[in-house]
Amino acid sequence: DGMPGDTTADTLEELSGWQRELREQFPIITGHPDLVYFDSAATSQKPRAVLGAVSEYLTTSNANAGRGAYPWANRTTAMVERARRRVGEFLGDTGREGSGVHFTGGTTEGLRSVARDWLTGLLADGDEILVPFADHRANLEPWLETQRLLRLQGVTVRLRGLPYQEVSGDYDHRALAAAAGPRTRFAAVTHVHHVYGGDMDVRRIREAVGPDVPICLDAAQSIGHLPVSVRELDVDFVVFSGHKALALPGTGAVWARDTRGPEFRPGGWQGTPNTAGIAALTAALDWLDAAGTERIARWTTALTARFTDRLHRLSPYEILGCQASLPAGSAVRRRHGIVTFRHRDIPSDDLGFILFSHGFMVRADSLCQAGAGDREGAVRVSLHVYNTAEEVDRLLTLLETLQ
Ligand code: PLP
Repeated sequence: DGMPGDTTADTLEELSGWQRELREQFPIITGHPDLVYFDSAATSQKPRAVLGAVSEYLTTSNANAGRGAYPWANRTTAMVERARRRVGEFLGDTGREGSGVHFTGGTTEGLRSVARDWLTGLLADGDEILVPFADHRANLEPWLETQRLLRLQGVTVRLRGLPYQEVSGDYDHRALAAAAGPRTRFAAVTHVHHVYGGDMDVRRIREAVGPDVPICLDAAQSIGHLPVSVRELDVDFVVFSGHKALALPGTGAVWARDTRGPEFRPGGWQGTPNTAGIAALTAALDWLDAAGTERIARWTTALTARFTDRLHRLSPYEILGCQASLPAGSAVRRRHGIVTFRHRDIPSDDLGFILFSHGFMVRADSLCQAGAGDREGAVRVSLHVYNTAEEVDRLLTLLETLQ
């Protein structure tokens, strides 16, 4: 089987014992040996530690946060405070710079809040912001709304598209450098692309925009998949969803640094927070740190490479966002557990149905990509640490029969 597969196979071999133990901790996975969950980019499954944290919190301390003077309420308040620190720590925030963590219902709500509660008030006529035109819609619509709201006040803000380069699986950094200019006040970027799976070189975005422009990172597909360090990436906002990172639906966080602008003070979330969800988020981050995000990244990128290396050779399939002529080892290897493809003759929803009839759960539709318009759908296979090489091989065997 040879060539690029060698290091991939070695990595999978080296980590197989570690992975087996982790997989055992996902009851929904081990409880359904005939099914294969390949839709983790939509939402992840939960380890027992996360389920246990919800139950533990609700059976020992459930109360409102910051509202009472009795032990359950005090414990809840302290738990939420601890969770805030935990998110900062998980993101490599040393706590030396001004920063804060705010809990949200997810990435969509978090990005909308950065736009409404922070960015809109800072922009002046003629300012420019860099936004992704081909990433998840959740990372475009809030900035369009900012532009609309300001236009009503007679303020014209220009949106410049971050150019995406399907061949490399990254933004086109040369075009990006040209798009950034003296009026650039803000950049919204994505860490891992939800269709192509590549991770963007965020440091190069910082180089392009210079040291003073705030950068907001949509980390929906990277948290839990690879190490995310606010110090290394030098970004100002990190926005993510709990449910994609082994925690519960309806949770998420915005980490905000306030050295490149005013403090981020979201107005919308002053009601009762999702305390059980916050307890689960802390448990998920603890679990991910203990498992090791570096190792998780090695596992999922190796599995993805195993999948794409073979899928490339099956002629009816076209993998989106990467060309078959790419030298092995380039963008293909950097996919973080996400591969999107089409079959030459089988419509994507039919293909999704066929896969499910064999027990594979994948995403098969338009994938919420901005700018994709009516473009036909595709099938997305997305992985997390609980998936195995055997599952990938089983899917490939099925795909081979559909030539
Ligand atoms: N951003 C990216 C890159 C995503 O993949 C997603 C979800 O698919 C979102 C934002 C929206 O996340 P949520 O639905 O949790 O708000």
